[in-house]
Amino acid sequence: MDFETLRQNLISIIRSKGISDERVLEAMRKVERHKFIPRSLWDEAYEDYPVPIGEGQTISQPYTVAFMTELLDVEPGNKVLEVGTGSGYQAAILAQMGAEVYTVERIHSLYEKAKKVLQELGYENIKVFYADGTQGLPEFAPYDRIIVTASGQLQQPLIDQLKVGGVLVAPVDDGGWGSTMVRLTKVGDKDYITERYGGFSFVPLVKGTR
Ligand code: SAH
Repeated sequence: MDFETLRQNLISIIRSKGISDERVLEAMRKVERHKFIPRSLWDEAYEDYPVPIGEGQTISQPYTVAFMTELLDVEPGNKVLEVGTGSGYQAAILAQMGAEVYTVERIHSLYEKAKKVLQELGYENIKVFYADGTQGLPEFAPYDRIIVTASGQLQQPLIDQLKVGGVLVAPVDDGGWGSTMVRLTKVGDKDYITERYGGFSFVPLVKGTR
C-alpha cells in the first residue's frame, strides 16, 4: 500500500473540513498512523474515523486529532502533558511539532504497546507513564499545554498543573449526546477563560489504573 499517498489524501480531507494550521497538517502528513494500529486494520489507517486499538479503546478520528491539536496551539519546546496515551499517535503528532511530551495511560497493556512503538519510531522527546491521568503528573509540572483524549469532567489537578498563560484542551461530558470540546486558557493563578466547541465522540475518562 502507498501509505504516503493515502496520508496526503487524508490531509486534503482534514483541510477541507476546516483545519488550516499548516504545522498540524505537516505533522499529520509525516506521522505514520498505520504504525499505531493493529496490522489487520492497516487498510483503514488513513480513513477519517476512529479505529479500535484493543481493551475497548480507540485511536481518535484524524479530524479530531487535528482539531484538538490546532486548539492546543503547541510551540516548539513546549512541555505538554497528554492524558490518555492510547495508541501513542497523538503524542507522536505533538512530538513531531517540537513539543516535549509527557503522556499518561491507565491501561497497562496499552501503555506498554505505545511505549514500544514510540521507541521503535525514535521519538526521544516523548515519555510514557502508567498512571491515573486524572491526577496529572505532578513530578514534571507545570506544563505549557495539557491535552486530555478521553471524555469526562475537567480535572482540578490538571488545571493546577498548567502554567499561567498555558492552554488545556479536553472533551467534557455535559449531559447531552457526545462531548463538548473545551479549551481553557489560564490567564491568572485562579483565573481562566473557557471556550467550547461542537459535538465530539470519545471513550470515557476513568479513574484508577488496571
Ligand atoms: N490519544 C490516544 C487516544 C486514545 S483513547 C491516541 O492517540 O490513540 C483514550 C485513552 O485514554 C484510552 O487509551 C484510555 O484507556 C485512556 N484513559 C482513560 N481514562 C484515563 C485516565 N484516567 N488516565 C490515563 N488514561 C486514561
